[in-house]
Amino acid sequence: MAYDFDLYVIGAGSGGVRCARFAAGFGAKVAVAESRYLGGTCVNVGCVPKKLLVYGAHFAEDFEQASGFGWSLDQANFDWATLIANKDREINRLNGIYRNLLVNSGVTLHEGHARLIDAHQVEVNGQRYSARHILVATGGWPQVPDIPGREHAITSNEAFFLKELPKRVLVVGGGYIAVEFAGIFHGLGAETQLLYRGDLFLRGFDGAVRKHLQEELTKRGLGLQFNADIERIDKQADGSLEVTLKDGRKLATDCVFYATGRRPMLDNLGLENTAVKLDSRGFIEVDEQYQSSEPSILAIGDVIGRVQLTPVALAEGMAVARRLFKPEQYRPVDYRMIPTAVFSLPNIGTVGLTEEQAREAGHSVQIFESRFRPMKLTLTECQERTLMKLVVDADSDKVLGCHMVGPDAGEIVQGLAIALKAGATKRDFDETIGVHPTAAEEFVTLRTPVAG
Ligand code: FAD
Ligand code: NDP
Repeated sequence: MAYDFDLYVIGAGSGGVRCARFAAGFGAKVAVAESRYLGGTCVNVGCVPKKLLVYGAHFAEDFEQASGFGWSLDQANFDWATLIANKDREINRLNGIYRNLLVNSGVTLHEGHARLIDAHQVEVNGQRYSARHILVATGGWPQVPDIPGREHAITSNEAFFLKELPKRVLVVGGGYIAVEFAGIFHGLGAETQLLYRGDLFLRGFDGAVRKHLQEELTKRGLGLQFNADIERIDKQADGSLEVTLKDGRKLATDCVFYATGRRPMLDNLGLENTAVKLDSRGFIEVDEQYQSSEPSILAIGDVIGRVQLTPVALAEGMAVARRLFKPEQYRPVDYRMIPTAVFSLPNIGTVGLTEEQAREAGHSVQIFESRFRPMKLTLTECQERTLMKLVVDADSDKVLGCHMVGPDAGEIVQGLAIALKAGATKRDFDETIGVHPTAAEEFVTLRTPVAG
């Protein structure tokens, strides 16, 4: 049967665009449908605008510390509307770049909502298109628990477009987005509290990292309330919000920001017209080559719920393009040693196993750890401390994990990830000459284990 396209991609986000461009580059006839915004979550309401807001929030500390270096500033003033307008302009520019990337690589772009009609057909704007392969790369969407008054809460989607910076913000959740946005709101001057339902936020990260960040955020005056969860939200006559916690306490705020995870975006996708199956968490179930239970339909990125990170969606998109149209270059995605950063203030950077995971996996573990006041702060009043930690296998000497809390942790960990991927041992770290004076050199001068 002749199809309109070799590949039809639903969703022009991180994974979809990468797959479409490379597939077209390999000679396939490719179309992409996008219903909302080119570049997807990462470019529009994710990584990119988030990082711009984090940069914005960081200036608060820079201004505070500048006096130690002899600078005197009049009162520093912050204008939210300027930051958001400049951010919007940059995102518009990136949308244009994504459009050019697609069009210049020969991909046909359909702007509209795509719905599956059957295993080989998609409908967009009332038109039907057939394809040999269909790739679902529709991403995710914030998930807010069903509590009374949830309509008064916002999520990351709305936070990027608030007209004003709220005076008081309650951030709910203890994952990446909650911790990052609590830092943004706090840094920009809102009275901020983070509410997390468990004992300590960032479940899954190394215990020392979680504790260290807790201490640093507390020092900065960010309110942390653990073992706290919201029962209801009520709007008051003056427009403020009254939040009732499950333990009966009441808190007054101007904004409740929910960051309690993301669900797969499957709305009106027409999956019921196909044999595609969902896993127990509701994400699209795929095999190791991203094929769903409908052989012509593949899925990648956040919609399969494996690792919800842009570079992972990119790698999956690339793998699918190669497998379908350049099989001789196909390499499976390696999910081990994925480095990641939480752009809290201070940042977390991490790669490999946490101490807890290493012990659980049966390694005999050596831990190297350093906590220090970064040199940049020695002329200032700031008491922030940096944490660096290596988890080493005592038998093989292999470095199993690197963890950091401190300025530029994400930047530093990217390089270390290459070393870990290449199987570096602690001896390799020890024999590496440091770059002086940097914070990163601490990773090659950790000599004495702190715990066996
Ligand atoms: P997406 O990028 O979400 O793209 C899916 C696209 O499909 C969207 O454009 C959507 O409009 C479109 N779509 C959906 N349904 C249809 C349909 N039926 N028809 C047509 N189009 C459709 N990751 C990092 O690595 N680093 C970070 O710093 C980071 N920060 C983040 C901050 C926030 C606030 C959020 C929410 C996420 C962040 N992420 C970060 C995660 C990252 O954004 C995602 O992992 C990544 O965007 C997933 O890519 P994707 O291709 O799977 O989906
Ligand atoms: P996460 O899954 O990271 O965290 C969700 C948090 O919400 C957890 O602390 C969870 O608690 C809590 N939670 C879940 N359900 C409820 C509930 N019903 N009531 C109260 N609390 C609840 O999700 P995020 O929304 O923060 O981010 C989604 C994903 O996006 C991340 O996992 C990450 O992959 C990606 N991302 C990456 C970033 C980066 O690379 N820097 C930045 C932002 C997002 P518990 O731990 O107890 O389950």
